[in-house]
Amino acid sequence: MELSGGSMLITTFQTTNNYYAYSAWTNEIARISKELYNLFNNAEESEKRRKGIELGLLPIAPIPVDVFSDERIGEAVSELMEQGPETLILSVTDQCNFRCRYCQFSGAYPQSRVHSNKKMTSELAVQAIDWCANFLRTKRHVGFYGGEPLLRFSLLKEAIRHALSTFKGETSFGITTNGSLLDVEVMDFLEEFNVHLFVSLDGPAIVNDRYRLDSSGRPTFNVVWGNLQKLQNRHPAYYSKYVGFNVTAAPPDQLPLVVRFFEENPSFFKDKLFNISNIKQGSDEIFQRLEVKEPGSQINYQWAWEAFLSACIHNERPPDYTRKICEPPMARIHHREMGAQVSFTTDAGQCEPGLRCHVMTDGTLHMCEHIDPIFPLGRLPSGFDYDSIRTCLRMFREIINVHCQDCWAIQLCSKCIPHIVDGTSLSLTNLSSLCNVIKKRLKRDFAHYCESREKNLDCFEWIANKTYDVNI
Ligand code: SF4
Ligand code: SF4
Repeated sequence: MELSGGSMLITTFQTTNNYYAYSAWTNEIARISKELYNLFNNAEESEKRRKGIELGLLPIAPIPVDVFSDERIGEAVSELMEQGPETLILSVTDQCNFRCRYCQFSGAYPQSRVHSNKKMTSELAVQAIDWCANFLRTKRHVGFYGGEPLLRFSLLKEAIRHALSTFKGETSFGITTNGSLLDVEVMDFLEEFNVHLFVSLDGPAIVNDRYRLDSSGRPTFNVVWGNLQKLQNRHPAYYSKYVGFNVTAAPPDQLPLVVRFFEENPSFFKDKLFNISNIKQGSDEIFQRLEVKEPGSQINYQWAWEAFLSACIHNERPPDYTRKICEPPMARIHHREMGAQVSFTTDAGQCEPGLRCHVMTDGTLHMCEHIDPIFPLGRLPSGFDYDSIRTCLRMFREIINVHCQDCWAIQLCSKCIPHIVDGTSLSLTNLSSLCNVIKKRLKRDFAHYCESREKNLDCFEWIANKTYDVNI
């Protein structure tokens, strides 16, 4: 039995005017004096621990750590055997009619798949749906991914119709698309079946067309923008409810221009969901291709935080394009359950392999669409290889047990197995890099949370009440 209870379970952070300590043992944030802040940062372990116990931030005696037991792994696998995937992602083609310069399938990422003529057969799509239908789950989402999935529109129609006639219970559908192939037939079908459409658009032409080019190297903004206009005119209610945007924030940072574009076109972007993400890490070559002189140059999201927090402080609705960035971390802190723990578990936070299931064009099954395709969880027609899933979880256990049991982030961490995959194993080095990012972000989030509540104690109540229609 492992034990935890040292001062590593406390972290400190500052706002403009105050000092705070956060305890992973109680999940509470306490305002402290500058002297205590200095003590927790500089004193000997015994002194930090003595003070932590005195303040109720650390347990008097170390508490047990459940290090992701065989029993827990067994439960997770049994549940998967019974319930199957929540989300089934079908990669219907590896081909794309675009050649975006930052694309993760461009060949610049050593272990990633690349654009090719591989495509899913309709037999395989039907097989994937039938396999999924054998599980007991009654609410599912089916996503279509590529390449560009609308290159396989016939297959997509067949798969959606088959899923609706096969699955019992509630089924929703989604497509991640570059938006170039939205003709009238496609639009009418998407509208008829309420398919969520996530269109990749990086902002106005001057930003989008830096890197989002078609396979002949031509800019793509005009065609996508024209299609969105047609879709909105043809099916305004559908557009308003089911269309969202994926924005890749690539260097050099042009997000202020992107935001101005959203603000200047409210009829297209008001009340929309925006997934704003960075280009995939792990390739120096990609920065050479983008001709970025400083590969490490960061995208600055401070503008988003300022706009989001200012709105919260003034009890106003935050701008939509800030919400996907800022709302989940604030909600996680705001909704945390507080109180002294009797034990810790190291396996909180990460997604469990198989709940999101990515089916590749050849029928192999993966944890999600972002993982490199050399860590399969099974293959159709036989389905999941439960031994592989157990092995994956045990490998994960070996790594997190070393790292997580004395970590102050243990209750709020959102570690992700695909992020630490390296080839056919899980990498301690990758986990360490991920931990640094997670802990730095959490401290920033704590500071944002507390600084805002210093100005308006109730400023995040709308998150609890979902007043602003949280669809994130
Ligand atoms: S549209 Fe998507 S899959 Fe196609 S090249 Fe661009 S980023 Fe890659
Ligand atoms: S994954 Fe890293 S940051 Fe998260 S709890 Fe474990 S050690 Fe802490």
